[in-house]
Amino acid sequence: LEKEGCEIIRVAVQDKESACALGRIKEKAHIPVVADIHFNYRLAIDAAKNGADCIRLNPGNIYKENEIKKIVMEAAGRHIPIRIGVNSGSVKRKNNSSENVNARDMAESCMRYMRTLEKFNFRDIIISLKASDVPTTIKAYELMAKACNYPFHLGVTAAGSPGPGVIKSAIGIGTLLYNGIGDTIRVSLTGNPKEEVKTAYVILSSLGLREKGPDIISCPTCGRCRVNLVKIVGEAEKQLKKLHLEDKLTGVKIAIMGCHVNGPGEAREADIGIACGNGTGALFKKGRITKKVCEKNMVSSLISELQNLDK
Ligand code: SF4
Repeated sequence: LEKEGCEIIRVAVQDKESACALGRIKEKAHIPVVADIHFNYRLAIDAAKNGADCIRLNPGNIYKENEIKKIVMEAAGRHIPIRIGVNSGSVKRKNNSSENVNARDMAESCMRYMRTLEKFNFRDIIISLKASDVPTTIKAYELMAKACNYPFHLGVTAAGSPGPGVIKSAIGIGTLLYNGIGDTIRVSLTGNPKEEVKTAYVILSSLGLREKGPDIISCPTCGRCRVNLVKIVGEAEKQLKKLHLEDKLTGVKIAIMGCHVNGPGEAREADIGIACGNGTGALFKKGRITKKVCEKNMVSSLISELQNLDK
């Protein structure tokens, strides 16, 4: 995950053995390791002693003041922040009502926990309020953003498999970031965690907050398209990956368009691109055509230009 660009990692600490393993994980990790603690406050203390960079507590299952106080004392002494990780699934509703948990319930649970930590003079706090429902997630963060100035860790929890999960995460996290809320993010997918990191970077780069790899602009095709654009774009992406060009081309905009309608003139914002014709394509750089190529040489010509691109 570090190689993919992950900048913070969270690990589940579910028993004493896991807490001890944190020390060994920390020896190899180059990024902060967040210990995820549920039910047993002693594991939070063990995690802190074993080098956790942050302790995530769930207000739904560690809530006794005397236990929170012991964790705070350990964390404060070691300058370890505590993330209040409210999760819609573990928020208790007043009077044990069976109604669905809403954003206000989540924010109130978070606020109570925040005040308990502050009562013990602890302010090294990070706020997280993840729900699996996107509007609930957004609303809960908005409510907390009005109530405090602590850093926010964003995410839509249990977003599902990569297809719908990517969209839910992008809408939830993207909306909040666009409105100025959020300091760190987590994309939660049922799938390969590498996809989570990739998705996180796409969300950040879409909002102009972070750049990683080139930005490929390609059209959806229509009746004007006379080449197999889907194949061309897929092959170009494959080659960029295979030749390890992605990092080198960070920030470069590459346009691959199905026809001249959105060619050099219209795709002016692209650093380099191809506007396809009838089995041919015009290679262009910064809005000016530099070369004509046939369909079968399009990808190789584009890749060779990219390899020699002077940013
Ligand atoms: Fe159609 Fe050309 Fe637009 Fe692609 S760029 S969608 S082929 S008009």
